[in-house]
Amino acid sequence: MKTNNILEKEYIDKGYWKDINLGNMLRKWSSIYSEKIAVVDGDTRITYKQLNQKVDKLVKGFKKLGLKKGDKVVLQLPNSLSFVVISFAFFKMGVIPIMALPAHRETELKGIFETSKATTYIIKDKHLGYDYRDLARNLKRENSKIDKVIVDGEEEEFIPLKSLISNDIFVIDDIVVNDYIDDNSNVDERIDFKDIAFLLLSGGTTGIPKLIPRRHTDYLYVAETLAHKCEMDENSVYLAVLPIAHNFPLGCPGMIGTFSVGGTVVMCKAASPDEILPLIEEEKVTMTALVPALASICLEFLELENDFDISSLKLIQIGGSVLDSVTAHKVMNSFNCTLQQVYGIAEGLICCTSIDDTKDIICNCQGKPISLGDEVRIVNENGEDVKKREVGELIVRGPYTILGYYNLPIVNKKCFTNDGYYCTGDKAYITYEGNYQIVGRIKEQINRAGEKITPSELEELLSKHEMIKEASVVGIKDSSLGERICAFIITDNKKLNINEIRKFLREQGLATFKMPDQVEVIKSWPLTSVGKINKEKLKNLATKDYK
Ligand code: AMP
Repeated sequence: MKTNNILEKEYIDKGYWKDINLGNMLRKWSSIYSEKIAVVDGDTRITYKQLNQKVDKLVKGFKKLGLKKGDKVVLQLPNSLSFVVISFAFFKMGVIPIMALPAHRETELKGIFETSKATTYIIKDKHLGYDYRDLARNLKRENSKIDKVIVDGEEEEFIPLKSLISNDIFVIDDIVVNDYIDDNSNVDERIDFKDIAFLLLSGGTTGIPKLIPRRHTDYLYVAETLAHKCEMDENSVYLAVLPIAHNFPLGCPGMIGTFSVGGTVVMCKAASPDEILPLIEEEKVTMTALVPALASICLEFLELENDFDISSLKLIQIGGSVLDSVTAHKVMNSFNCTLQQVYGIAEGLICCTSIDDTKDIICNCQGKPISLGDEVRIVNENGEDVKKREVGELIVRGPYTILGYYNLPIVNKKCFTNDGYYCTGDKAYITYEGNYQIVGRIKEQINRAGEKITPSELEELLSKHEMIKEASVVGIKDSSLGERICAFIITDNKKLNINEIRKFLREQGLATFKMPDQVEVIKSWPLTSVGKINKEKLKNLATKDYK
């Protein structure tokens, strides 16, 4: 059996892991792409050289404040230049940021502080009408270990981010840094490429997120590999729409992949079409990443207002949850660009379609693992490999998949096999072309009177109904059936009822036991903090309304 040490040696020997940390990578990119624009945030445009300079100044400020290698800091910022500067300052220092999402609130943050033992908290003053200083006050009241709160903006009683820059001019839109002397002393060579660079949060739909330790080297490997797969280069302009603290826009290839080729990252403040589409036009964006729900909203918006010039767009990545093939086709037609389906887990493995795959493949599967080092298996309940093209749980081991969650030994025993495979909880099979197709989550499987139903199968069929715009199916606890099937639909037709829907599904050849027991019309989806449909909330709604 391969131990973790053997696996790590293998990843180094095979060249997947390079001996460099993310902080030093920024210095390298800054010398190669020096005068190129690295980040656009509103009216602010900053070159690679200026970015590196700002990062070095902030390193000094953080050191003065007493932060040091190994410290953990909860970082909760919207998509912004500040996020980039702070993250890279920490990468250079070996301080470990915990990538909280702007949508996280007290419940999640309390758990994050407790599990990580972080004592520093970095926030924006206000964002989209929400005051994060109030949140910080509440958290501090309950957790006396939080001793430093740093605010980007009006600091009130907390520490102003701008005071931490060495010459006290940390104004994010100040791009003239004449007095800067290149200072290698900021680069901490003791930061090993295998060290934890940051902690991502697991995308669970409820409860307290788990902390996912990502190393400098594995993250760089994914970002560079995906940048290559997406054919990115110095002319690439990446629009960061999804919360940047999430794995997808952070490094798949996202922000870090864009930097690795000298491209430009444009920050989008709100994940809404009236911000996304004008930015694509103004900044000549070439690529972005969306979740299916957001892609659908953009499609609707484009149908109403299609006078945006979005001809610069070459590629849209869509991932995070199941994209039905009808929407996939619509995305390619309406945006007039290539689509890349991405199956990704913050724990590691990324599968995606290739730019030169056929339309049929792109619209119907999630492609292949991005690395030859990915050992992906599809297994049954006993952990045995299933036969070709059979559905089973996808488990994985590889150069950028974690070997354990942070500080969670009991969870790790459940989520990892003895020989280091991470059990994704996702059900998948391999198509004839060798592509992976995700068909649902093991947990999500509905067990109706002993019969098993995969929600995505029903969802795909329902979305083919001409009156149904989108559908989401959940299993609801039921005293007689064990679980009943509840289909939530978005429709303009108020008369559409359960009998008509069943008739339609029967015409599609669906087994009787898979017919929905309950249909609920909903105006819009309750979403999780990363924009996925919140199925837990749907289950609560279905229970409340069911008579
Ligand atoms: P996260 O850890 O937040 O990135 O969420 C990972 C989970 O999202 C996976 O385990 C899947 O259940 C789901 N997921 C991600 N990408 C896809 C996709 N393209 N299709 C279906 N499910 C996906």
